[in-house]
Amino acid sequence: MVTKEPEAIRLNVVPEPQQAGGRAVLYPGSVGRGTEIMSSLDKDAPDTFCGKCGVRLTYGLAKKRLEQYVMRCKTCGAFNEL
Ligand SMILES: [Zn+2]
Repeated sequence: MVTKEPEAIRLNVVPEPQQAGGRAVLYPGSVGRGTEIMSSLDKDAPDTFCGKCGVRLTYGLAKKRLEQYVMRCKTCGAFNEL
C-alpha cells in the first residue's frame, strides 16, 4: 500500500436535489460546530471544501462515503457533491 497525503478536494456546486436518487441530502442542523458538516476517522480520506465559498465541509470521510451525500454548506447554503 502506498501512503497518501490527505487530498484537498473542492466539491462541485449542484442545484438543490429534488429527489435524493439514492443519496442522502445533508442539511446542516445542530450537528457539530464550525463549518464541517461531517467528519470521520479515515486518515487516508480527503478534506473537502465548499465549491462556492471554500469552507471545509468534511474531513476524514472516505470518498466512497462522500459519494453517497449531497451536502448543504452551513456558511453559504450551496449544495455540494463529490
Ligand atoms: Zn459554502
